Amino acid sequence: MKIQNHDFLLFAGPCSLESEEHIKTSFEFLAKLPLTAVRCSIFKARTSHKSFQGAGLKHLGLIKSLKESLNLKLVTEVTRPSQIESLVDIVDIFQVGARNMFNYELLKDLASCKQPILLKRSFAASIDEWISASQYLKSENVILCERGIRTFETKTRNTFDINAIAYLKQNESFPVIADPSHGTGIKNLVTPIALASIHAGADGLIIETHENPSKALSDAEQALSFKEFEDFVLKTLPEHLKLAGKTILTDF
Ligand code: PEP
Ligand code: MN
Repeated sequence: MKIQNHDFLLFAGPCSLESEEHIKTSFEFLAKLPLTAVRCSIFKARTSHKSFQGAGLKHLGLIKSLKESLNLKLVTEVTRPSQIESLVDIVDIFQVGARNMFNYELLKDLASCKQPILLKRSFAASIDEWISASQYLKSENVILCERGIRTFETKTRNTFDINAIAYLKQNESFPVIADPSHGTGIKNLVTPIALASIHAGADGLIIETHENPSKALSDAEQALSFKEFEDFVLKTLPEHLKLAGKTILTDF
């Protein structure tokens, strides 16, 4: 995947894929918008073992057929090496989540995949540790994603480190994207932090959206409704991307 300076990567979707109906409704909605790829989890790495762990492999056939019929690309998280084989044919970009950034064995296995790897920052990783983790992968295949770090502040789910975006853009050559959904954990903060990230130099965004946010099986508080997400993409985003000199990459 060749990402140019003017490309903007817009990844969006529900935190987790849930039922068949939920997958169909979500994909059909997302296919109508200018996105780089749908981003949603099939496997989840949850802090509590009691939380929804993801639908797993059971909907892979449906996901594959919707991807093809709607001409969508897919970003999804791989939580352990043994999942790579089942996902490799339907995934366009593998996500490594914050909890797995330090899982070097997973990174070593992903290094031989042809797909780009979206490497999220661990909530306890310095920028240097994050870059070191990325060096397990092929450098031309890495997309870094700032998703907030843990600080003493508890009002928000994480503290979004906007410095990291500006720093990496000025000092490294990787594409760097922002995840204001996990970075804040609060849906009303998603738009301001998304826009701040664009103006700090981010090459893209991950935004979580759900048909019925209060019913989402994971990350309900940070999900934008479909209407809120559509307004963000069609009404808010264009003028900011114009100022930043970027255009949403819709084909790669
Ligand atoms: C996610 O992307 O849905 C997720 C679990 O994020 P993180 O790994 O950043 O916590
Ligand atoms: Mn999530």
